[in-house]
Amino acid sequence: MYIKEITIDGFKSYAQQTVVNKFDAHFNAITGLNGSGKSNILDSICFVLGISNLTQVRATHLQELIYKGGNAGITKATVSITFDNMDKNQSPLGYQEYEEITITRQISVGNKHKYLINGQNATAQRVSDLFCSVKLNVNNPNFLIMQGKITKVLNMKPVEVLSMIEEAAGTKTYDIKKANSLKT
Ligand code: ATP
Ligand code: MG
Repeated sequence: MYIKEITIDGFKSYAQQTVVNKFDAHFNAITGLNGSGKSNILDSICFVLGISNLTQVRATHLQELIYKGGNAGITKATVSITFDNMDKNQSPLGYQEYEEITITRQISVGNKHKYLINGQNATAQRVSDLFCSVKLNVNNPNFLIMQGKITKVLNMKPVEVLSMIEEAAGTKTYDIKKANSLKT
């Protein structure tokens, strides 16, 4: 499963509906002037993936993600991501029959909130289950390498880098289990 297209409407600096497409299945780069909205595209992906720590998308309240905080006549932020689902080995659990999967998240002034899967209303849990079934957990601390983090990683001690990799790979839990079993 990989991103084919993102439609951003009313989210952060994207007041008008904007379509971002022509993604490569493996590697993509976004270029542009400072402040032109590159990171906001990444934030919009995190938004659809269900990020719970809003500081990672540079906000403190969901409403701040709406264009000008909902104070400029635009009262909704909607982001849709269409994933290519042709590779059935990578399909989310229960979605093998779809060639494409579109996940939409919308928030409105007044804290109205909804998710859609292929145009049908869905609960946040259902969307989270879908992404978790393809091991896409935006809330894993090492899922995101945000602006500035590369420098931080470069300055880490080897033991800190190892710890970060162990956490990302999911092997840290075994260390904890091993330590516990050695205690008993
Ligand atoms: P850089 O190269 O400096 O990293 P960038 O292309 O990543 O820049 P972004 O961080 O995506 O830029 O965009 C920053 C712009 O988005 C700023 O001008 C900021 O005012 C604007 N912005 C952020 N949130 C909102 C919002 N809710 N409404 C309107 N504009 C917003
Ligand atoms: Mg940026």
